[in-house]
Amino acid sequence: MTEKKTPVGHGEDATMEQARVLPNDELNQALVANVHPPDWRNPTPAGRYNLVVIGAGTAGLITAAGAAGLGARVALVERHLLGGDCLNVGCVPSKSIIRASRAAFDAGDGDRFGVRGGGGDVDFAAVMRRMRGIRARISANDSARRYRDEKGVDVFLGDARFSGPDTVEVGGQTLRFKKAVIATGARAAALPIPGLADVGYLTNETVFSLTERPRRLAVIGAGPIGCELAQAFHRLGSQVTLFHDHAHILDREDGDAAEIVQAQFVREGVTLELAAQLTAVRREGLDAVLRFRGADGGEHETRVDQILVGAGRAPNVEDLGLEIVGVQADPRRGVVVDDHLRTTNPRIFACGDVSMDWKFTHAADFAARIVIQNALFFGRKRLSALHMPWTTYTDPEIAHVGLYEREAQQRGIAVDTYVRPFAEVDRAIADGEEDGLVKVLTRKGTGEILGATIVARHAGEMISELTLAIVAKVSLGTLASVIHPYPTQAEAIRQVGDMYNRTRLTPTVKRVFNGLMALQ
Ligand SMILES: Cc1cc2nc3c(=O)[nH]c(=O)nc-3n(C[C@H](O)[C@H](O)[C@H](O)COP(=O)(O)OP(=O)(O)OC[C@H]3O[C@@H](n4cnc5c(N)ncnc54)[C@H](O)[C@@H]3O)c2cc1C
Repeated sequence: MTEKKTPVGHGEDATMEQARVLPNDELNQALVANVHPPDWRNPTPAGRYNLVVIGAGTAGLITAAGAAGLGARVALVERHLLGGDCLNVGCVPSKSIIRASRAAFDAGDGDRFGVRGGGGDVDFAAVMRRMRGIRARISANDSARRYRDEKGVDVFLGDARFSGPDTVEVGGQTLRFKKAVIATGARAAALPIPGLADVGYLTNETVFSLTERPRRLAVIGAGPIGCELAQAFHRLGSQVTLFHDHAHILDREDGDAAEIVQAQFVREGVTLELAAQLTAVRREGLDAVLRFRGADGGEHETRVDQILVGAGRAPNVEDLGLEIVGVQADPRRGVVVDDHLRTTNPRIFACGDVSMDWKFTHAADFAARIVIQNALFFGRKRLSALHMPWTTYTDPEIAHVGLYEREAQQRGIAVDTYVRPFAEVDRAIADGEEDGLVKVLTRKGTGEILGATIVARHAGEMISELTLAIVAKVSLGTLASVIHPYPTQAEAIRQVGDMYNRTRLTPTVKRVFNGLMALQ
């Protein structure tokens, strides 16, 4: 979404680069003024930093702020925009346009509620402008000045690279460190489809710069990013074809959950090309033509105006001088870390998308907290001790925490599964949101919750109750005794608890109860 970065003169800091985010309107200028101020001057490096942090996405920002708040002397280096992917080209812009796409969908969905006359006429430019306004507003939290003035962090704008055993080079300056953190994130991976690069395509880095709606859009990859954006663009009026190499969308999710979302995509009219192998892409006039082998084994073609690649993330491990400091990295898996987030160099840690399978903002946030303790206070905190929930923000959403049934099976853990479909939940029926479920896995014969999946319009808001139950070791039976206001969709969680409690009513317990009743 940014123009090619052009070096500009900054007096002595001529090595600094100016960031320009497209479109270059007042909203994006406000964003850039916060997260890559054009008039920024890098500070004079302190003698030796307790911590030098490379990358100012969520992982880097939380590490730097947390460490500085505890009294450490911290340098934070960012080559592009503070806030990283989440603020600039990830969570914030995607959730903003998803919200607009829900409004468009609901406006056209009034008939089934007896509300006539809706149309959902989408002003795409206004949708994107709203998104840019939200992003600019939220960017105040991640502003370079705030980190310098309020948090006491030395913020350097420029490309960071290890230059010696305890030094990082940025813009011709040398930062010395006792400990360092690599938090350089990830980017959209290049796909090896012949012709794709020549024809050109959008990624999350460019799609939020659009001001005109693509009439026909191909989305490659039906993982979380691809599905969220495919549905959003479809609802905003693009004709979307979603390509996926598996037989189902969101194939890493619980199968029943993914099935519900897939059925919704089909009902809405998103064209799904599943089990499809893209073999070539070419340009014909203004059209991009995608050639693929379909699920039927035949060769097919689809013509679109734009292609969006939503599949695959590549960790940013290049040109960091990792070999100089003995940090091992894999171009696919990223920086190698142990469970304490320590790299193969004990003085250097890594967290966030560059080193973790959990590629979420909240995962980067909580990993950063582990790094602060382990790097500065000889802590022994472990990543594997975290219970990580996540949500895919399709409509309905899928939220998950803990084990899936297939994982339990692979690990030889016997489980009981309790499912409450929303078709049996009063509030969901009243809301017209019956296509969903709450599924909870317990260790067989016990109330110990091992995993949960929720499919609901606001599943992401509901999963925390189950995450809390797992963290606090609250049994499913206890959730049955938690009073939930009537009518709410979250009652489904209590009802799953009731299902579990009913299984405790063994024939013997029933006989005893019956005897007691007879006595009375
Ligand atoms: C479209 C999309 C939607 C998403 N939606 C969600 C969501 O809803 N919820 C969620 O939890 N997660 C979501 N994510 C994932 C989330 O954005 C990432 O997990 C998160 O941003 C990771 O943070 P990070 O700090 O590890 O990396 P990043 O945010 O990528 O930050 C890394 C930073 O390091 C900088 N950098 C790299 N190399 C250098 C260098 N050599 N010198 C200096 N700086 C450098 C980069 O410029 C970047 O700013 C989404 C991602 C995408 C792409």
